[in-house]
Amino acid sequence: MASPDPGKLSEPRARQAGGLIEPARAAVHPPLVNLRPVNYVFDLGRAMSIWPMTFGLACCAIEMMSASMARWDLARFGAEVFRPSARQADLMLVAGTVVKKFAPLVRRLYEQMPAPKFVLAMGNCAISGGPFKFEGNYSVLEGVDQILPVDVYVPGCPPRPEALLEGIFAIQKKLTGHRFWPQPAPVEDPAFGAAPAAVQEGESR
Ligand code: SF4
Repeated sequence: MASPDPGKLSEPRARQAGGLIEPARAAVHPPLVNLRPVNYVFDLGRAMSIWPMTFGLACCAIEMMSASMARWDLARFGAEVFRPSARQADLMLVAGTVVKKFAPLVRRLYEQMPAPKFVLAMGNCAISGGPFKFEGNYSVLEGVDQILPVDVYVPGCPPRPEALLEGIFAIQKKLTGHRFWPQPAPVEDPAFGAAPAAVQEGESR
């Protein structure tokens, strides 16, 4: 499929302007095997062996790299195999700022990934443009969800590696319907009070 005309991406708020970039397909149709127990086993295997694409765009990528190092050890959860090729990955971790000039290439990489595939928007830049969202911004895409179907949003500038781990748990839960790991105890900050109920209950969004 041909990439969209890069010139059109200079338009602000591409999605509001009528979807200058077509939404991407994220599923296999029709499924090769459509038996519920078999699908569950497949999804369990996918959830426990997520292969993210090596795709750091800006400062958030440093936190993404940290998540795979010894202290946070993403390998414990099956997602340590960062692939240098979109054709071998099933999770696009958009970690950083997406500029409009680069947006067609992000879209092309997503299209090269085999389905089923997932997108995690890491950090405020990938979610909404972050600190680059201001009047007069002409170059930064204000949210990667304008060009890709995002499954999980991990907010922060940058989000900590623990937050990225929670995002990957949310992808696993989306695949299987279960959270397989213990829920961290909510932290009570005297300045802000108790964590919101949604956080305490472990809701992903
Ligand atoms: S959200 Fe903050 S830390 Fe992440 S890429 Fe943007 S400016 Fe950098």
